[in-house]
Amino acid sequence: MLALIIDDSRAMRRILRRIIEPLGFSVIEAEHGQDGLNQLAQHSHNVDLILVDWNMPVMDGLTFVQTLRANKGVPRIATVMVTTETEPAQMARALMAGVDEFVMKPFTAEVLIEKLQLIGVAIGNPIC
Ligand SMILES: [Mg+2]
Repeated sequence: MLALIIDDSRAMRRILRRIIEPLGFSVIEAEHGQDGLNQLAQHSHNVDLILVDWNMPVMDGLTFVQTLRANKGVPRIATVMVTTETEPAQMARALMAGVDEFVMKPFTAEVLIEKLQLIGVAIGNPIC
């Protein structure tokens, strides 16, 4: 299984990587939405999970998801937004754009894994 982590914070990418690698994911990283689209194309969209930040330079997470979902040639990849955005209206916009789940920063490994299980991309829980 392959996961794409998109966040402009290197520290956050490292935190996310350390949580999902034990679940059996290989990880590729991107620094912003455009970088994420490029990485997906490079991997022929053979990615099983996308974790995407909202606030990033160049292309933000919402624009990334909108662009991704608008491209009908791309299979539907499970997408979780990991964000400090908590405004219900903003969250509704992201859900309408095609985000499957939200994780609020700061978060615990347990919360992230629970969300992944909810959308069916993580079966076991190596922490339990
Ligand atoms: Mg950010």
